[in-house]
Formats: sequence, structure tokens, C-alpha cells
Amino acid sequence: MVENERLRQEMRRFEAELQELRAKPVAPCAGCEHSQESAQLRDKLSQLQLEVVENKGMLSELNLEVQQKTDRLAEVELRLKDCLAEKAQEEERLSRRLRDSHETIASLRAQSPPIKYVIKTVEVESSKTKQALSESQARNQHLQEQVAMQRQVLKEMEQQLQSSHQLTAQLRAQIAMYESELERAHGQMLEEMQSLEEDKNRAIEEAFARAQVEMKAVHENLAGVRTNLLTLQPALRTLTNDYNGLKRQVRGFPLLLQEALKSVKAEIGQAIEEVNSNNQELLRKYRRELQLRKKCHNELVRLKGNIRVIARVRPVTKEDGEGPEATNAVTFDADDDSIIHLLHKGKPVSFELDKVFSPRASQQDVFQEVQALITSCIDGFNVCIFAYGQTGAGKTYTMEGTPENPGINQRALQLLFSEVQEKASDWDYTITVSAAEIYNEVLRDLLGQEPQEKLEIRLCPDGSGQLYVPGLTEFRVQSVEDINKVFEFGHTNRTTEFTNLNEHSSRSHALLIVTVRGVDCSTGLRTTGKLNLVDLAGSERVGKSGAEGSRLREAQHINKSLSALGDVIAALRSRQGHVPFRNSKLTYLLQDSLSGDSKTLMVVQVSPVEKNTSETLYSLKFAERVRSVELGPGSRRAELGSWSSQEHLEWEPACQTPQPSARAHSAPSSGTTSRPGSIRRKLQPLGKSRPVPV
Ligand code: ADP
Ligand code: MG
Repeated sequence: MVENERLRQEMRRFEAELQELRAKPVAPCAGCEHSQESAQLRDKLSQLQLEVVENKGMLSELNLEVQQKTDRLAEVELRLKDCLAEKAQEEERLSRRLRDSHETIASLRAQSPPIKYVIKTVEVESSKTKQALSESQARNQHLQEQVAMQRQVLKEMEQQLQSSHQLTAQLRAQIAMYESELERAHGQMLEEMQSLEEDKNRAIEEAFARAQVEMKAVHENLAGVRTNLLTLQPALRTLTNDYNGLKRQVRGFPLLLQEALKSVKAEIGQAIEEVNSNNQELLRKYRRELQLRKKCHNELVRLKGNIRVIARVRPVTKEDGEGPEATNAVTFDADDDSIIHLLHKGKPVSFELDKVFSPRASQQDVFQEVQALITSCIDGFNVCIFAYGQTGAGKTYTMEGTPENPGINQRALQLLFSEVQEKASDWDYTITVSAAEIYNEVLRDLLGQEPQEKLEIRLCPDGSGQLYVPGLTEFRVQSVEDINKVFEFGHTNRTTEFTNLNEHSSRSHALLIVTVRGVDCSTGLRTTGKLNLVDLAGSERVGKSGAEGSRLREAQHINKSLSALGDVIAALRSRQGHVPFRNSKLTYLLQDSLSGDSKTLMVVQVSPVEKNTSETLYSLKFAERVRSVELGPGSRRAELGSWSSQEHLEWEPACQTPQPSARAHSAPSSGTTSRPGSIRRKLQPLGKSRPVPV
């Protein structure tokens, strides 16, 4: 029924569509729209036909079903009849039995008790029979209900069948209608197709005409190209000729190239040879210049004297206090920077040294003065720089300086680094440093693991006569950072050893020994130069009353070693045969660096204030004494007049140390016995000089 309803709706829709189609005027040349529409219609028609076939199939199925149901109904009716007959028989049988039973019961009742039992049995049986009867009646009832139901179903089916028949008739009428519509649409379509065919033919004709015109133009072009080709052929021929010629040339090119290369090679070889010979010449000249420079340098140093003495006056500081004691007692000569004036106990005293630095002089100014000495160390010379003076006069400031304003020690190493760097292409240098201190005539390693250990100075076993200190630590340094580390290490060693470092350092000599070893890369020549930077113990004299015990011992040792240093320098400058190096650890240790063609600079530190004038006078006299031993090679003279006659150089008896025999030559404390009062001695020119490494 649902299906039928759907079909009916569809039919109504089709009818509406058909109506629409009929209402629309048929466009003669609507193009493809009509053909599409007719195709759609055709599809629909075939769909409808299919549906009709389907419906027909369904109808026959329904008919079959009805038939089956009718058959079953007949069957059921037959069975019903059988059942009824059976029932009637059963009823009859049962009623017969009932009757019989009643009769039996009656007869039995009349009989004796054993018969009662039988009666009972029969009564029981009769109830069973009754139950079977009621069951049969119920079944009968049920069968009757079923038959009624089947009859109802049959009736409904018959109705359905009838409506299906009606629907089929209707559908058939519709199909006929659609077929006629389809035919009409087909006719329209044919017409349209014909008109389209005509259009197509027309278009083809037009295109053909156009193609013919274009073809003509192409033919004309082709003719033009053919004539061009004819003219190009001779050009091609000449090009081919050219190409062949070039090919021949290229074939011959490697040969030409080889020849050219050969000649260029020969030219280059010649040029290289010329450059080589030029280089050799330049190298030779360079070496000669180097030698000349060395000679000039040596000459300069020689002219300045191998032992030079300069003074540095420190500024007045807060520590000097106030009042008349702290007034300035030192003045300078505006025209001569080698003169210093001191007002001592109201009397002006003047001294002449190699150079005098006023308090205004910077660390750099002082370093400038010693720079040449330090560079000569690279060339294999031994150099000693001493800072001499009373405690607080600025020795440590000049040698070590402050972290912001370093002194000679750090500046010297920096200069060595940069000089070595400059020569790095020809020379291979290594710079090592050692730090030691001499306290109470005991030598200690400041960079060693055991700073307490006493070190000895020994002669080299190689027979060279050189001295060395077994166990003295040497650090290789390559940068300012390395130096700082080494200095810091030395300082830490010293601080941990001594509780009052300031006091201790003023009573000991601190030595920084820098060794510069070089190898000439081209000749293999080796040089070794040693730079000894010495911050000496305070030169102040200790009074008889103020010194006892260990302080007295310290003073004696300091006195002894400073006197020995003065003696050695004096002996060296006066070219004495015997130089008393062994009189102190300091001079013995520095023997190599003080003798021969070594160079020595003494920086005498001076305090400018009134209260220190006595010590200042002493220091300046010591300086002048050292300096005046020799005024210059050849023409310079030794002025020894003031040497032995100075009462201030005589030690107070309490400090006097037992004099070693060598001291008799020159020690200031040895009095006037060994020296003539005033000798002007003409000194020899410098002895044979150390081989110059070039
Ligand atoms: P020394 O080592 O001779 O005992 P110091 O070098 O310790 O003496 O100097 C004593 C004080 O004077 C220090 O505080 C130092 O900074 C200062 N001093 C020394 N020389 C100068 C100078 N040229 N300029 C400024 N201050 C200086
Ligand atoms: Mg000091």
C-alpha cells in the first residue's frame, strides 16, 4: 500500500510536469536543452515501465499468495470437519462409557464392598475422561477461532487484490499517456537534431574556407623561406671553411702553449734566482746592520758606563707626618738633571750622579732610563738593577710598584715579551723567572714548595766557572698573566712565612732573576742573558742602643752584604784583580751578572723629608762612591777621595761585623787603611766583550 501511495504521488508529480511541458512554447532551436529534457523523459518512461513490470510481478505474487491462502483455508476447513466428526465420535464414545460406567456403578453398588473399590476407580477414571473432553472442547474452540481469523484474512486479501487490479489499470493508462508524450518529445528532438546538423555543416564549411586562405599564406611564406635558404647556403659554406681553419689552429695550440710555458718558466726561474740573490744580499746587510746596532748599543752603554747610579726622590707622603721634621730638604738643579742638593743640618750638600729623578718622575720615566739595559739582556748580556736606600724611601715602589702602576719588574718582563715577539721570525726565545730572598745571609727560594729550605750556591760541574743554585725553582713565563701569577705565588710564600712581612722585607734582599735564552733559527747560535732585579734591604744604620739580639744580627747581616756590594762594585769599576764576590751571599750569587761585560744600575732611593736627611746623606754618599770609582772607560777617572774619608761610612761599633779578608780592599767600614786618601785613577777601556749573537 505504501508503494502504491508513492507511485500515486509520483504520477501526480509527472502529471504536473507534463502540464508544465505542455504550457511551455516549444522553442524551435533551443539547442541541447530539449534533447536533455527528452532524454530525461525517456529515462523516466523506462523507469515507469520498469515500475509497471515490478507492479505486475507484485500482483502475480499477491495472486499466488491469495491462492495459497485459499488452499490452506480449504485444508483447515477440512481438518475442522474431521475434528468435528472426531469430536462427535469421542463424545458419543465418552457418553457411552459414562453410561456404561453409571450402570456398572449401580450394579456394583448393589454388590458387596470389594466392588466399592472398583466403583471408586471408575469414578477416578470418569474425571480423567471429563478432563479430556474439556480439553477437546477447548481445542475445538481454538480451531474455530483460527478458521474465523483465516476467513477474515482471506477477505482482506481479496480486497487488496481488487485495489491492486484497479491501480494496475490506472498505471497502464498513465503509461500509455507517457508513451504518447515520449513520442511527441522524440519528434521534437529529431527536429532539433536536424537543425543542429545543419548548423554543424555550415560551421565546417566556414572553417574549411578559412583554412584554405591560411594555407595559401603559408605556401607563400614557404616560398620566401626557400629563396632565403638558397642565399644562405654560400654563407654556410664560408662559415664551414672558417671553422675548419680554426680547428687546425686549435690542433696546433698545445704545441704553442708548451713553448710559451717553457719560456715563461725560464723567466720565472731567472726572476726567482734574482730574488734569491737579492734576499741573500739583504740578509747579509741585515746581519751587518744588526751587528752594527749591537756595536752602537754596546758603545752607548760603554759610554754611559757599565755601572750607572741614579737617584730617585720619592714625594712627601702622609706617613711623613707634619711639622718641621716633615719639611722638604731636597732640591734639584733646573739645568742639570744629574745634580741633587740636600740641606743637612742647615748645610747644603750637592751630589752628582748619572741621573736624578725628582718626585714628579713617573714609573714610566724611570723605566725609560733602564730600558736599554733590559733589551741588552736579549742580546746575551747579564744585567743587575738594584734599589738601594733606607726603609720607606721607595725601593719596593720602584721595583714592584702597585697593581695600577707597576714598577721596573713587570715593565721589564713586558718589554722582554714584546722584544722577543718582534724577533720571533729569526730567534726562538724562552724566558724564565726565579724569585729568591736573602735574609741573614741565608738564600731561600720564594717560588719553591719549601720556602724554608736553605739554598746553596755552587760552581757548575761543567767547568765553565759559572755558578748555579741547585733546587732554585724556575718558571717559564709567556705573558703578563704568567708574571702576575708568579709574583703572587712568591708574595704568598713570603706572607705565610713571616707574620710581619713589611718589617721582614725591609731586612731582606728580594731578587727576581729573569733568564732569557735564545737560539738563532738560521745559525743555531745560542745566547743566555740574565736580568737580576734586586730590592735591597733597608740601608738605615741601626744605633747602638736600639739594637739587640735578632735585630742586631739582622743589622749586621744587612750591613755586611750592602758593604760587600759596594766593595764589589768598587773593585769592578776600578778593575782590580781581585773582586770580593764571596764576601756576601748577594754578591756571590750575582757574581756572573756583575763581572765581565755585565751591566749594573743602582737606583738610590731618597726620602725628601727633613727627619731623614741623615740617612739620605748616607745613601747619596754611598751612591756617589759607587759611581765615582770609575767615571768612564778610557777618559773617565776614578775619584776615590771621598771614598774612605767619609765618617758616615764608618759603622757604629755595635753594628760592626767581623771583616773578611777580602773586605780590606774596599769596604767602607774597613776605614782608610786599604785606600789612598785621594786617588785619581785612569781606568782601562772595557775588556774583551762577550760574543755578540748575530
Ligand atoms: P721601601 O721599599 O724603600 O721601604 P716603599 O716602596 O715601601 O719603600 O715606599 C714607602 C711608601 O712611599 C709607600 O707607601 C709607597 O707607596 C710610597 N712611595 C714611594 N715612592 C713613591 C713615588 N715615587 N710616588 C709615590 N709614592 C711613593
Ligand atoms: Mg720595601
